[in-house]
Amino acid sequence: MKYTKFRALSILTAAAMLLCACDKQSDAPEVTGEVKITVFDVGKADAMVLQTASHTVVLDTGNKGDGKDIEKFLEKQEITKIDALILSHFDKDHVGGAARLVNHMEIGEIYLPDYASDIDEYNAFEEKLAETDISPQVLAAGAHTEWAFDDVSFTLDAAEKTDYGKNEENDFSLCLYTRHGENSFLFTGDAEEARQQEIIAKDYGKVTFLKYPYHGNYLATTEKFLDAFKPQYAVVCCSEKEFAQDETVSTFEKRKIAAYYTSDGDIQIVSDGKTLNITQ
Ligand SMILES: [Zn+2]
Repeated sequence: MKYTKFRALSILTAAAMLLCACDKQSDAPEVTGEVKITVFDVGKADAMVLQTASHTVVLDTGNKGDGKDIEKFLEKQEITKIDALILSHFDKDHVGGAARLVNHMEIGEIYLPDYASDIDEYNAFEEKLAETDISPQVLAAGAHTEWAFDDVSFTLDAAEKTDYGKNEENDFSLCLYTRHGENSFLFTGDAEEARQQEIIAKDYGKVTFLKYPYHGNYLATTEKFLDAFKPQYAVVCCSEKEFAQDETVSTFEKRKIAAYYTSDGDIQIVSDGKTLNITQ
């Protein structure tokens, strides 16, 4: 009897080990090529393009006027279609260029957080969107969606709550986690304390690259956030005038995180599935 029990346990343990081996890492498709991420120098604003072998994702669109630069950047590479446009939230420094892109380019999917906004740049985007036949995917509180483009997996998580208090729209930021082979990337919009806690609870594990939240602001949750994800590289979207806070810069140094600031120019990150090559 004892022996049988032990064997049953061993089988269970082996099954558990197998399950452990099948976590996020092995969900990712097999690496066949490179992924290129460009983080634009657009001041204290977010605008990024992620390119897989044959797909293009735009994550946030900077301020009004930056949409044109994103369009030019893609045109130069003869890219006419954005396969996925993700707006982390509706602040003008994230949604600013979206109207232009919707008006000028072919767009596959659009992913949005679920809250009301009355910001001019958001209204302009809504107007242009209404002229198309695209129905955006609005991620309700707690919603989660996943897809793969070529050899890259994408996980998009919405904020958990429907109310974060007054002037707390940053906490509605969608969070994007992507994996390319051994490299993982976390993009966190302008998540502040409440939203950072939620992202920590998602348990994405260690990440290679972090788009640091909220333009380099050092918050009560910052250390815990960096403890949770232990990024090797971090990018901060900020301007010279409104640079990342000193405490943020010093915590990167203390933790030996290689940090890049868009105030120094566009940043390009290339992954071969094993290592990252970052140029600025
Ligand atoms: Zn912002």
